[in-house]
Formats: sequence, structure tokens, C-alpha cells
Amino acid sequence: MYKIMTPGPTQVPENVRRARSLACTNPDFDESFVFFYKETCELISRLLHTENETLILDGEGILGLEAACASLTEPGDKVLVLDNGIYGRGFADFVTMYGGVPEFLHSDELAAFPPELLEAHLTEHHDYAYATLVHCDTPSGVLNDIHRLCPLLKKYGILTVVDSVSGMFGEDVRVDEAGIDLLCGGSQKAVSAPPGLTFVTVSDAAKQKMKHRKTPIASFYANLMTFEGYYEKKWFPYTMPISDIYGLRAAFDNITADSNLLSRHAQIAAATRHALTAAGLRLHLNSGYSNTVTVFDVPGETTADAILLTMRNEHGIMLSGSFDSLAGKVIRIGHMGANANVADMTVTMSALSDTLHTLRVPLRGDLGILFLEAVKQNFL
Ligand SMILES: *Cc1c(COP(=O)(O)O)cnc(C)c1O
Repeated sequence: MYKIMTPGPTQVPENVRRARSLACTNPDFDESFVFFYKETCELISRLLHTENETLILDGEGILGLEAACASLTEPGDKVLVLDNGIYGRGFADFVTMYGGVPEFLHSDELAAFPPELLEAHLTEHHDYAYATLVHCDTPSGVLNDIHRLCPLLKKYGILTVVDSVSGMFGEDVRVDEAGIDLLCGGSQKAVSAPPGLTFVTVSDAAKQKMKHRKTPIASFYANLMTFEGYYEKKWFPYTMPISDIYGLRAAFDNITADSNLLSRHAQIAAATRHALTAAGLRLHLNSGYSNTVTVFDVPGETTADAILLTMRNEHGIMLSGSFDSLAGKVIRIGHMGANANVADMTVTMSALSDTLHTLRVPLRGDLGILFLEAVKQNFL
């Protein structure tokens, strides 16, 4: 068994694993399960600071993104796609698939998306049905300020779709304050349940757009409207994955009980960045660092594969490379959710130091020691 220090899936606490093994009822016919589902959805809404309804869907994070686009897009709809990363531009594929016309707004991939750029663009162009943006674009670790970007879009009545699969619960998300119409999350990142579930918060404005479509939603599984009235009808559109939802509930109970969740993420992320740069490694980004994942460039002396293999074979720790345009270029350390603790991160950073030493990458200090020193100085 590896210690998984990847930016999702993350480690799963024992109480979540145990909850997944509880005896099951028939989720189609047992009304107590319908109540449990609704109560869990309400808990998620509360934790994300929204009055909007949350729906838990039976599929991992990608289903949430597709469901958002499938449910909102009508053929010919113009959709603004904010792109400073791989997931950012990836939204365009879903928009196109459901007949929409994506229009990209690109910005520097090594920094957070500048609100000024969006603001200037919108003064000239604002004829969009909705806009898509990513909170933490995980392949590079760039964090976009959704609380500044979404209100700019709402000013023009543009609906907002946000992917915060790898942001939420490691970074603050206030759905109502930001004005997020559809917010997508997943079970396997900072939530720290196994992969398999996605959840989406849905605003009334988004529901109105879906209700008043001229064309039917071109999907069943990715159609958010199929859940309409489920509680009153005691009827789900398909059989709910009850064990997955028991586990998810335990994970959210853990989050509810964790009083310094966000400050711990901030502290561990700052200490990680400090250790890497103090030792002479280069962070991939210039700014806009997420507190959920740290990404550094592969040093010239070695390769991403060599680092990942040595970490696994010699230390039993799994880190992550990246993909698409970043394949082979960077290493990612996922310090989100259950991974965001000083003990696991110290072991990981020490092992990384050893690994780089073995691979003849010169370092100006031991990463584990540098990390711990920074944590002790509350390096923020
Ligand atoms: C993980 C992730 C998803 C879900 O996709 P996977 O298939 O689990 O990789 C969606 N968006 C972002 C930004 C993610 O990090």
C-alpha cells in the first residue's frame, strides 16, 4: 500500500471507510434513505455557504462538469470559457458536445486569472448564456479568485459554472457571496472520500434557465432536472449508490468537526513552497498558488518518471506528475484533505529530499527539515 500524497484521490480516513461498509437498505424504497440523502445535501450546501440546493450524482467529478454543461447548454448558446489551464479550456469540449459555441478568454497559465482582464473583456462582449471557470486548475495548481471573477459575470446576467473539485474545503468557497450558479465538487480531493461521487450546487437562476429551455436536455444521466421534486416524490432518477453516500456523509462530518481546516491547508502549503524554494527547486507558477496542491518543475538533472518511481519504490509514497501540455515537466504534491497534516507531509518531503539526492539533484538543504522549520515558524 502506498501513502497517496497525490492531488486526488487523497487518503481516506478510517471512519469514512467504515461508513462505506455499513449494512444497506434499499435506497429506492426506504424513505429514511431519501431523508439521509437530502440531509447530506443540505450539509454540503451549508459548508459551501449557500441557500442553493445540492445534488449528489453517481459519478466522479467529471460527471458534475458534464451535467452542468449538458443541463445549461442549448444549441447555439454562446459560452465564455475562462482559460488559464488544462481543466479551464477542457470545459469547451462539453460546451461543444451539447451544441454550444465556446468562446475562449485566455490568460497567462503561470498566474491566477486577472479579474481586470475579464472586466475589460465584458465591457465589449457580454452576450453569453453562461461562463465556465476553474477554481484550482489542478495540473498546474493555479488558483483563480472565484469570489472576484463570478460577480463580474453576474453584473451582466451571465450564469456562472465553477469547477472547484480540487479547491473546495482546502480553499474557502462562498457560493452565495460569489454568485455561483452551478458549483461542481468531487468526493476524492479535499473531501477525502474515495472517487465515485460528484455533487453540484444549483441556483434558482440556473433552474429557471433549465426549465425554460426550448430544446430538451440531450442526456439522462447528466440531466440535473431529473432530480426535480425527488424528495416530495420519494423517487430518485436512478438507484443511488448508498455505500458511497454513507462514506461521503462521514467525510463531510469530519469536515464539519474540523475547526481549522482552511488555516491548516494555508500553513502546510506555505511551508511546502518555502521548503522547495529554499532548497533551490523551482515552483512551476509565478503566483496564484493553491493551498491544495504544490507543483514544481522537474530539475534538469533528472526526469519526472525517475522521481515518481524512486518515491514509490524506495519510500512507498505516491506523488503525481501531470498530463497534457505539462506531461513530464512537473511534479505535484497533493496536500489537501486528509493529506494536509504535518506528519504525512514531513515524511513526504524527507523522502523527496532523499529521492532527489539519489538522482543527483543538488539541494541547498533537507526538504523535510526545511518544511518542519517553516511549519514551526507558522510560515504564512
Ligand atoms: C480531479 C478533478 C476533476 C475530476 O476529474 P478526474 O477524472 O477525477 O481527474 C475535475 N476538475 C478538476 C479541476 C480536478 O482536479
